[in-house]
Amino acid sequence: MSGGAGLGPLLIRSVRAVPLRCPLPEARRHTSDFGRQDRFDVVLVAVHTEAGITGCGEAKAAVGSVGETAAVCAAVNGDLAPGLVGRDARDIAALWEAMYSGPRAGHALGAGWSMPVVDRRGARAAALGGVDIALWDAVGQYYGLPVFRLMGGRCRDRVRVYASGGWAGPERIGEELGAYRAQGGFGAFKMRVGVMDGDVRRAAARVAAARAVLGDAADLFADAHGTMTVPQAKDFCRRVADLRLGWLEEPTAVDDLRAMAEVRQAAAVPIAAGESEVTRYAFRDLIQVGGADILQPDPAICGGLTEAGRIATLASAHLRTVAPHLWGSAVLFAAGLQLAAACPNVPILEYPMGGNPALHELTEDPPRPAGGEIAIPEGPGLGLAIRSDFVDRHRIDGRTGGITP
Ligand SMILES: [Mg+2]
Repeated sequence: MSGGAGLGPLLIRSVRAVPLRCPLPEARRHTSDFGRQDRFDVVLVAVHTEAGITGCGEAKAAVGSVGETAAVCAAVNGDLAPGLVGRDARDIAALWEAMYSGPRAGHALGAGWSMPVVDRRGARAAALGGVDIALWDAVGQYYGLPVFRLMGGRCRDRVRVYASGGWAGPERIGEELGAYRAQGGFGAFKMRVGVMDGDVRRAAARVAAARAVLGDAADLFADAHGTMTVPQAKDFCRRVADLRLGWLEEPTAVDDLRAMAEVRQAAAVPIAAGESEVTRYAFRDLIQVGGADILQPDPAICGGLTEAGRIATLASAHLRTVAPHLWGSAVLFAAGLQLAAACPNVPILEYPMGGNPALHELTEDPPRPAGGEIAIPEGPGLGLAIRSDFVDRHRIDGRTGGITP
């Protein structure tokens, strides 16, 4: 794992998806509109190089905790890997184009615009993102530099994190969020609302109960997971108007961005969205339709760190901030930390309170909030030390040996 200047090509030897299934003990399970969550499914992506360096990324099969991983793994191992072997891992933008534009990548680079393959928004795009994150990690290790140094340098030493959870009913929601504060010194909190509440009045009552316990100084966000109608979302925003919500996330279904824009037009509450959107093109549409104030790309869904950085730049040109969706393992969270370090308009990150074993046990040095913040890691690449024993205990493809080939 030696780095340094003046090094030659970092040739890719192999690329492999490593699917993990991490069961949750009963005490750490929660129930939302996605049902009772009994596990976290994770796809790690390992890029192995001839220099002996292995980069690690993450590709998400679903926005939530549980999602079948077969399609993402097939996209990594079957669709993308053959075109990457033998290429120089340092050429990240060109490799992104090779994955996105497939056999026409050469034409795309010649013309100056992408010529995407048909599956540009689903499992294959998530796979692309996982490979991209792993490439950044490998190249950072090769040069002995944290990824943010390769992305333009440091904007901040520490980044604010918000505790993302909040599923309890009106009687217990304050207690649930208050317990988060005790765990990590958080000053910002996100709770779930929407169809799981049964009606808008209960959703608003839960927000009021949370605010009463957290006090006026706390930042409080609500996430509807896209489950309200436009009238319900408007009604909800009226009912919480005095509760100083920092944002309402995905009030309505993301298949109709105009509906979200209609809510945003009518409401005083800022709207956040974008966790399931893929590539800068989708975020351009979200911005143009007026759908959101805060953009939430997920590097493991939207096209990797490369694309998340482009989306942040696009957002900055429209005076939007970015609060990345990071509901995943320590690898995805590490990618979020690098993004926040390098991008001026990424001031806050999601810290999942779902008890994901792959967030807390996958690496030797898991992210630990203190005073509601996390320090940006200084180690090479993503600064990760993956625990092979954890990988071997949870992987479901019959292989062993951690993320090594
Ligand atoms: Mg969300």
